[in-house]
Amino acid sequence: ITTKTEEIIQQTDRFGAHNYHPLPVVIAEAEGIWVKDPEGNKYMDMLSAYSAVNQGHRHPKIIAALKEQADRVTLTSRAFHNDQLGKFYEKVSRLTNKNMVLPMNTGAEAVETAFKTARRWAYDVKGVAAGQAEIIACEGNFHGRTMTAVSLSSDPDNKRGFEPMLPGIKIIPYGDIEALKRAINDNTAGFLFEPIQGEAGIIIPPEGFLKEAYDVCKENNVLYIADEIQAGLGRSGKMFACDWENIIPDMYILGKALGGGVMPISCVAANSDILGVFEPGSHGSTFGGNPLACAVSVAALEVIEEEKLADTANELGEYFRAELTKIDNPAIKEIRGRGLFIGLELYESARPYCEHLKELGLLCKETHENVIRFAPPLIIKQEELDEAIEKIKQVFSK
Ligand code: PLP
Repeated sequence: ITTKTEEIIQQTDRFGAHNYHPLPVVIAEAEGIWVKDPEGNKYMDMLSAYSAVNQGHRHPKIIAALKEQADRVTLTSRAFHNDQLGKFYEKVSRLTNKNMVLPMNTGAEAVETAFKTARRWAYDVKGVAAGQAEIIACEGNFHGRTMTAVSLSSDPDNKRGFEPMLPGIKIIPYGDIEALKRAINDNTAGFLFEPIQGEAGIIIPPEGFLKEAYDVCKENNVLYIADEIQAGLGRSGKMFACDWENIIPDMYILGKALGGGVMPISCVAANSDILGVFEPGSHGSTFGGNPLACAVSVAALEVIEEEKLADTANELGEYFRAELTKIDNPAIKEIRGRGLFIGLELYESARPYCEHLKELGLLCKETHENVIRFAPPLIIKQEELDEAIEKIKQVFSK
């Protein structure tokens, strides 16, 4: 007899492209930090859809905004105005301290937008000669899966078979300020980086790097562009990961939790001396700025602020890391992180541990062969976290 779960996995495998390797669990329902499979087994979500559900699954306030807006208007395209986009702009503008916002749908599209902005800014504002603009990115980065994003990547697996890559990109070691200085020249448009590298395995830059890099960019008239898609919006224990060094980047790239796990919505935010480079017809998206996603996003951002989710991430994150550090197991190489954005690096493959954790009712996913990422929804309570910690200790008991 095959179970419902097996049936669904077979169907998915049979008709879908095999561009993912999910754990063998089917999520059929979810609420808060909990998800359920078709057989009714309950699991605690320790991944939060790569930090897209920081607010928890189906947060009531966000679902209410979704339903209310779904009953009014969902899509207008940008050929006309809609009555939600302005509210979204104002909300993001106040949150980021930037006076212009450009909406897209996915993270990768927002990265595209930042990349295009930087190039155009280089030509129109900085005065770089036509076709010469350069963008500096970091080794180990993850900015998405579009051609621009894979061109930025240093991981051969992300690029294989997709060549030729975009020109005008330089890669420096993450956190290496001297390398950044050496890479900058008169044609440099922007420095594009993650303030914490998520997919690379929760890599925190060396203390002071965010600030020093900012100063170097300012001295050289280079845009400082922070991809806060995964690390931002409360995850790291502050609203933005750049806040850890009190930096306001020239441009924020936001996505994931911007839509509360309910609607895909992303954006870049910058001041008009930068985002002002776009005129009508120069960039856009049919679904970008749609009223349904905008209404959802305003509610999603309000939840992060009203429920002080960054503070929860900070407090519980410290506790969580301290508890993990107490585990004595020779397979563990390092525990690192900020807020509820934690990587446990192993000397061996992380997959069997994730599978064991799943058996105990904890959904985690390995990132790069040997790192387990712990990133629960930020609405998690201390008792719930204790439950998770018990299970993790069990899996790592010798
Ligand atoms: N940038 C960062 C830092 C990310 O973590 C991700 C996704 O994991 C992306 C960009 C791409 O976002 P999306 O998958 O929505 O295109």
